[in-house]
Formats: sequence, structure tokens, C-alpha cells
Amino acid sequence: MVTSPEVRSPLRGTPVVPALAHGPAVLVRSEVSPEAIAAYRPEFADAEAAVAAYEAAAQAVSAGFAHKAERASGAAAEVLTASAGLARDKGLRSAVRKHVAAGAGLLDAVHAGVEQFVTVFTGMGGLMAERVTDLRDIERRVVAQLVGEPEPGVVVPDTPSVLVAEDLAPSDTAGLDPAVVLGLVTERGGPTSHTAIIARQLGIPCVVGVHGAMAIPAGTPLLVDGVAGTVELDPDPTSAQERVAADAAQRAALASWTGPGQTADGAPVKILANVADGESARAASSAPVQGVGLFRTELCFLNRQDEPTVEEQANIYGEVLGAFGEDRYVVVRTLDAGSDKPVAFATHTGEENPALGVRGLRLSFDNPGLLDRQLEGIAKAAATTGTEAWVMAPMVATVAEAEEFATKVRALGLKAGVMIEVPSAALLAHRILEVVDFLSIGTNDLTQYAMAADRMATDLAHLTDPWQPAVLQLIAITAHAGREAGKPVGICGEAAADPLLATALIGMGISSLSMAARAVRPVGAQLAKVSFQTCEAAAEAVLGAGDPAAGRAAVLRLLST
Ligand code: PEP
Ligand code: MG
Repeated sequence: MVTSPEVRSPLRGTPVVPALAHGPAVLVRSEVSPEAIAAYRPEFADAEAAVAAYEAAAQAVSAGFAHKAERASGAAAEVLTASAGLARDKGLRSAVRKHVAAGAGLLDAVHAGVEQFVTVFTGMGGLMAERVTDLRDIERRVVAQLVGEPEPGVVVPDTPSVLVAEDLAPSDTAGLDPAVVLGLVTERGGPTSHTAIIARQLGIPCVVGVHGAMAIPAGTPLLVDGVAGTVELDPDPTSAQERVAADAAQRAALASWTGPGQTADGAPVKILANVADGESARAASSAPVQGVGLFRTELCFLNRQDEPTVEEQANIYGEVLGAFGEDRYVVVRTLDAGSDKPVAFATHTGEENPALGVRGLRLSFDNPGLLDRQLEGIAKAAATTGTEAWVMAPMVATVAEAEEFATKVRALGLKAGVMIEVPSAALLAHRILEVVDFLSIGTNDLTQYAMAADRMATDLAHLTDPWQPAVLQLIAITAHAGREAGKPVGICGEAAADPLLATALIGMGISSLSMAARAVRPVGAQLAKVSFQTCEAAAEAVLGAGDPAAGRAAVLRLLST
């Protein structure tokens, strides 16, 4: 259906939160429109009148920030309160006054005044330099007030709506209310973008990387499909509402899944949780999981300057192991410091390409004691709690690395495995399995390295997608090696949390899926609905698909028959 000369429905992007939403589009603009700026030709009686107009605009901007701050909490509230103060700043007003007095038009004077502050803040460095973004945000908002446009950034809609944005900044997302923000659609951004993370936390149906989204006319009714990754414009309202209601009912049914993980015909699938510390482990332990498939130990130490002692480490790991008792098991990953997870006492600094540098297991090459002490701490925690600990290393690239690591782990009486995150390790999975007890595929990094696309780069979202057939081939090779060796091969990257993709992964022979606790029930319930044979058909379909969208569509077709 064509609903606008520029926008052809449905638009397609990367699905992030698998749920449906129907509501009118509210466009979040990050800039004031150039037309409104060009049309702004105010006639002020004198310079004081121009400064008064500035003053009124700045007060309105400040009040807007203060209002938002009241509804936010923590760091977000602090940032917003600081911005409210900066917008009313007397120094900024004097700078604008000076430029008006020198004959500048009001918009030029505002720009020059702000730039003066930008120069000062930049010169001060540190935290003050970081406030430059806030200054520019204030300028855009003051200009919007002056030319009579809504301020750029998120406006809280009066009626429940779908927010459509280029991308959302952290300050935009502070205080998003799911009661009025039914869905999120962004033109940029990938599955790891800020918008995606917030949408997952809040459970708001979301599709990111939607090319052409900003051309959607404001107010257009949208059907956001966070399962298929589509945005339909102006759908038939009755059938759209029926689909949303059916989706909500289905999700409510999913929430009642209680495990254990298996397909409809009883093929067992271990469903496990990803955890970061004792607190998240205790929360995850009440979910229907058979244990932990990924304990990211480095996340316990992001704020530590010095390496914790073996005793301290044993206590920290013991909190996680203890949460799961003696009848479940915990896969502990050794420090994955470096690249996107800097740990002061371990990370090498000044690398040109940190993602390809000394991260993960590679940190032990010139500092073997760091790994030895961590393994000792893990072994102590396992002995104290009685919980079975499996131990795996991140960023393994060769068979020799896997063998050396496994020897150390087994010497402590623990099960040894490695993560498959580097394509070389996936291709040699059969040989690595000769020297370890299990494998766990980190699809986030495997995708990044297979596609040569930075997992943090929002512009490369179409590449950093685990549905890419090349990534799935590497997973299939690894799963096949596991089946041949009769050893477990799990998935612990974000791909495991996607109920649709999970069916195909199980069909490839993956034996466990580990994910954020929130995803456990939707994934478990989806698998319980399909036979193992359908999972195998899904695996074949995604491996044969030309691109991620074709793979998703093929699995959706299979599951709906
Ligand atoms: C992964 O790379 O998929 C993974 C689970 O590890 P992390 O996301 O912590 O790098
Ligand atoms: Mg990783």
C-alpha cells in the first residue's frame, strides 16, 4: 500500500523487542527545520526587546528540562537539572546580549553566544568538555522556541503513540513511559544501540534501522511488528487492533511457561540464564532455568582499580554459584576484559584496534598469574557452595589456546570449555572439541568478527545481525562438531534470546540456550510449541536464505503452518 509519495509500506528494519504495537506516529526531530529558521524574520523595537525574546525562550527551555528532571531519577535527573540551570545561565545571556548589541540577528547571536561557551568548556576539558553536547542541545531548543517549532527531542505524546526517531539519545529515553509510548521505530541504530537496550528493558515493541522512517508523515497510524521487523503505515484499524490483541494474549500465555526446556515432541533443550553478579544471579534463579550459561565475571570488576585477591574473588563468585544450589550448574567465563569492557587492572591501553587486540584469554599470554588466580577463586567458590562450576575462556582463536586453558581448568577438577567467538575457532570446532568438554558460542562477537562489523556501530546494524547466513553457517559447523563429538555446544550471545531464531539453532543441534532472564519464558514457550523436525526445517531454511529478512520470513512461514 502506498500511503505517502516518499514512503512505501511496509518499511523494514531490525526487530528488537518481539511484540506488536498500533498507534499514531509522533516524530522526534533532532534538528529545527531549516525552513522555519529561514522564515524567521522578527522585528524587535530595540536590542533589549531581542534579548527579552531570548530570555523568554531560554526560560521555557529551562522549565522543560526541570519538568523532565522531576519525573526522572538518578543520573538522568542530575543531567536534566544541570541542563535546566545551564539554559538560564546569566553568562550565556550576557554573551547573547553582547552579540545582539554588536548588530547580529537574534539566531546568530544565540549561536555565537553558545559557541563562546563551547570554546570555554572545551578548553576546561574533562567533565566540562562533555557538557558541550548539552550546550548544543540547549541552542537547538532555544532556536525552536524562537521560531515557534516544538523543541527537538522526545515530546511526551498526549495520547498513546509510536515514537519515530532518527535515533534516541540517553537523555531522550530517560523517563520513557510505556503507557504512552506504545512502540519505537528508529531510522538508525542496531540491536545493540541505546534505543534497543532501553526498549528491551521497558518491553516496548521496537524496530531499529528502519530506512525511510523519518519520512513517515506525523500522525500516520502505524503497526509496529517487533517480530518480523516491519512497520506498516495506515493499516486497516480493526485488523491491526485484532493482531495487537492476539499478540498480547499470546505473550501473556508465554509468561506462564514453567519449563523444563524441550520441544513439543520432548527433545531436551537446556534453558540457562546470563548473569553478571550475585544480585542478577539471585533474580535469575527464580526463573525456570537449569542454571547459568554465562557468568560474565569481568562485569564484577568494572569499577575496580586493583585486582581482587583470590579470597575476594572466591566470595564474589560464591554469591553467584550459591544462588543456584547443588542441583543446577553455572558456566563461569574467565575475564573478558578489553575492547568494549575495560577493566583497569587488566586491560591493555593504547591499542589501535582494541576489538582485535589483547582481550579475553589473550590477557593471560603475558600475565598468566591473572588467569591462575581467577581459576583458583572459582575453584574455591565451587568447593564452598557445592554448585557445579563449568569454566570457559573468551576470545579463543586456536586449538593450542583451548588445550592450554583446559589443562589448567581440569587440574582444579572443573569442567573446561571455550567460547566460539572467533571464526577460526568455529571452523576448527571439531579439533577444539578433542581438547575441551564443551563449547559456548558467543554470537555477539562471532557476528562482529565474521562480518567485520563493529558490534557497537549503529550504522552497521544490517551486518551485525546473527540472522546473517554466514554467521549461521559458522554456528551450524560448530553445532555439527558438537553432535559428532557427543559434547554440549550452547549459545550464550543475544541470538539465544530470539524465540524465532532459537528454533533454527536447536534444529542445527545446539544443546543449550543462555539468555537474559527476561527472555527465558518467551524462548522456552516457543520451543515447547514446535517439533524437533520443524526446528530442523527452520535450520535448513535460514541456512539457505539469502539474507536475514528472508531467513526470518521463512521461519515465520514454517511456524505458522
Ligand atoms: C558474545 O560475544 O556473544 C558474548 C556472549 O560475550 P560478550 O557479549 O560478553 O562479549
Ligand atoms: Mg563476546
